[in-house]
Amino acid sequence: MTSTMGQVRTGGAGVPEGAAPEGNEESGGPSIETFDPRTGALLAIVPDQSAAEVRAAVARARAAFGPWSALTYKERSRHLLEVRDRLLDRAEELVGVICAETGKQRAEAVTTELMAVCETMDWYAKHGERILRPQHVPSGTLAHKSAWKRYEPMGVIGVISPWNYPFTLSMTPIVTALFAGNTVVLKPSEVTPTVGLAIGQLFADDTWGDLVQVVTGGGATGEALVRGGVDKVTFTGSVRTGKRVMAAAADSLTPVLLELGGKDPMVVLEDADVAHAARGAVWGSMQNAGQTCMSVERVYVAEPVYDEFVARVLAEVATIRQDDSGQGDIGAMTFEPQVEIVQRHLADAVAKGATVLAGGTRTDRDGLWFPPTVVVDVDHSMDLMTEETFGPVLPIMKVRDAEEAVRLANDSPYGLNSSVWTEDDDRGVQIANRLQAGNVCINDCIVSYAVTGLPFGGVKSSGIGRVHGAEGLREMSNVKSVLGRRLKVPRELWWFPVPKHLDAVGIATLRARFGTDLRTKLGRSRRS
Ligand code: NAD
Repeated sequence: MTSTMGQVRTGGAGVPEGAAPEGNEESGGPSIETFDPRTGALLAIVPDQSAAEVRAAVARARAAFGPWSALTYKERSRHLLEVRDRLLDRAEELVGVICAETGKQRAEAVTTELMAVCETMDWYAKHGERILRPQHVPSGTLAHKSAWKRYEPMGVIGVISPWNYPFTLSMTPIVTALFAGNTVVLKPSEVTPTVGLAIGQLFADDTWGDLVQVVTGGGATGEALVRGGVDKVTFTGSVRTGKRVMAAAADSLTPVLLELGGKDPMVVLEDADVAHAARGAVWGSMQNAGQTCMSVERVYVAEPVYDEFVARVLAEVATIRQDDSGQGDIGAMTFEPQVEIVQRHLADAVAKGATVLAGGTRTDRDGLWFPPTVVVDVDHSMDLMTEETFGPVLPIMKVRDAEEAVRLANDSPYGLNSSVWTEDDDRGVQIANRLQAGNVCINDCIVSYAVTGLPFGGVKSSGIGRVHGAEGLREMSNVKSVLGRRLKVPRELWWFPVPKHLDAVGIATLRARFGTDLRTKLGRSRRS
């Protein structure tokens, strides 16, 4: 049992012991450093792994595929629930690792990382077999045939994950792939590699130790995985990298699942519960320091309730506890270049006439601290309203009515999540149906992701394919269509020699079977 895990050199709080020291540190190979964003302190040094190491990891996962894919769903499920027990045994340790590398608060790590994964495993254990077992389909005119489809494992799945939810966005594709009978090579973000190593350890400490291989490194390691002979790539990250992944995968026609960025709109109608909507907007834009693909990134508020909404948002923002206690509301941001994007978007907006009502400038202390920020007088000429900001920033725009709100909400290349807020539930559904997004919440935001039965993913530039739900499980499977026989016949009608008058019989059959009125069915002209 081996897995490609480099040893971390400098252990910060909660950083896992590397399981299998593999050279780069000892051999002087290239390495990457990871930092605690709360303080800027060096956290760990891990190997920047080469294409050869990636191929070796794929080969190990390939060797594990045969026996694992031969298990029944129940056997796989039982095993995954053992992994979940291990996860629960190590919950405090995992929360420590996640918080040290991302800067998020402990409760955020528990709910959005550990709980989300446990829920997903639970859902597959309860519903997965029903979704993936063979299913009969009607055989139409070929009534003497029996038709069914079966879902088969694909092989080795390459999982490439981002830094904002490094645990759940690695584990969700991993457990989905494993349940469907595949094995996995994970390439975690170079910003959060120790979380990836901790995931690898969950699987390595096991009789089935080779199911999940972990390779650490940056973009080149990720590209090596895409080109490394895997049977599918599931990528979660930015639109820019997603395009690169798809282009690299095209060389070998490797299928891709892309979960990309968003610029999620929130629509507040004049009949909304304004206090409720304001609290939702603040939570939806600030939780995880705004670094959520489904964050509320722009709000459109109907004119009659705009002033009250802004006032309530400001009151709510003033109560946010942002600190490094681990027990506050939000923590530090995770990645220095993301802080720079936030600053660039704010500077662009202010230069074009926006007004900052709260926050707006980086906090003067070590680490990646940016305060909750509220901006008004915004419009679609500003990057803040059109590009993904991914920070604790809430831009609010006044609109005339629902029509203008829907038009502006849809005026985006993205389409990940979205929300509409109204006390009229029917109206909420009508507006929700018109929002161009893969997901929509009515009188809430973001949390649709927490319902594992709901497929999650984007439209437009926000992605291709779905995780979660029946669609997510089937994404990790090849569907095989099978045609068998219901009745044995001496020969098929269309076999050679083609019977005389088959054309005339064929037309009569077509009319009888597909004609929608009696005259057509009987072959009588409707013009006569
Ligand atoms: P990123 O695109 O910079 O990196 C994502 C991963 O891709 C990392 O592991 C990185 O090392 C790897 N990578 C980089 N270049 C590569 C290449 N050429 N080939 C293969 N892999 C490569 O994204 P990020 O900054 O880590 O994450 C933030 C982004 O992710 C945001 O845009 C956010 O909206 C998006 N995101 C989307 C979802 C979703 O479910 N739709 C969820 C979370 C985050």
